[in-house]
Amino acid sequence: MARIISGTAISGTLRAEIAARAEALRAEGTVPGLAVILVGGDPASTVYVRRKEEACEAVGIEGRTLRLPESINRDELFGVIDGLNADPTVHGILVQLPLPDGLPYKAVLERIHPAKDVDGFHPLNVGRAFIADSRGFVPATPAGIMELLKREQIPTHGRHVVIVGRSLIVSKPLASLLMAPGPNATVTLTHRHTVDLASHTRMADILIVAVGKPGLITADMVKPGATVIDVGVNRIDDEGTGGTRIVGDVDFDAVSEVASAITPVPGGVGPMTITMLLRNTVDAAERSARRRASMQGKPSTTQ
Ligand code: NAP
Repeated sequence: MARIISGTAISGTLRAEIAARAEALRAEGTVPGLAVILVGGDPASTVYVRRKEEACEAVGIEGRTLRLPESINRDELFGVIDGLNADPTVHGILVQLPLPDGLPYKAVLERIHPAKDVDGFHPLNVGRAFIADSRGFVPATPAGIMELLKREQIPTHGRHVVIVGRSLIVSKPLASLLMAPGPNATVTLTHRHTVDLASHTRMADILIVAVGKPGLITADMVKPGATVIDVGVNRIDDEGTGGTRIVGDVDFDAVSEVASAITPVPGGVGPMTITMLLRNTVDAAERSARRRASMQGKPSTTQ
């Protein structure tokens, strides 16, 4: 029976570390600040934004949500972002996706100053993650998965990691983090057009699934003893209660009999994602404090 990797427990430890860093910043006169832009009233986005606000408050980050009407145009939205870019009390900016149709999300993400782009979606930060340049920001979900592997002491060095999915938000940055010097994994990326997916997944020492299809990965697709990280979030009908419930992409019960370690859904990768956003925000605030201190010729005590 596989060991359960609890993202909830690891997040708790990490959030305590983040809160201590936020406290140290406050003691130096910098209140870490995150601005979240929510355009329109998409129900799922509204819930995600509220969770981010609550998480910020719990670790001592000043979270501010700008709720903008769906009718806002590109230039008005750029104006809001420019204002936040120039605001010294804001260290991190994120635009909750998806944006309403008609707003060019790539141009909007590029408008955020790279030093405040705590989602890591600006092309400069995408490139920095690719070349393992620590001045950038790594998107929260892949950063959270790397942290899970590290804190659970799951070796990646020389191991074969198979990732199902090739998105820019999760899989591609994760592949570059895993194959970088340090983690030193051998990485295979698969996608919708991969022929005989199971022949790839069965080779994995670590199988990471980020697709959005419940039950995609069955027990016969997993090598005995593998570590399985399930990123998928799917709402399905719950026959027991007549309501709905959240599941991942992996047939959890059956795969748990084959794998050596597995993340549950919910309670695995999900909690890590918000935690890494908080960490990126504190990183941004510390970098800003260091820049200010060096301009004033003073040493900063925060890391
Ligand atoms: P995405 O952009 O929709 O990408 C899905 C990927 O899965 C695509 O690369 C697609 O291939 C691939 N795919 C689809 N069907 C496949 C199949 N039958 N076999 C192999 N590959 C297949 O999704 P995403 O943003 O990466 O998110 C993936 C899942 O993770 C979703 O359920 C999402 O809700 C969840 N998620 C969770 C968190 C969290 O914090 N827990 C964070 C982000 C995302 P093509 O490129 O060929 O179409």
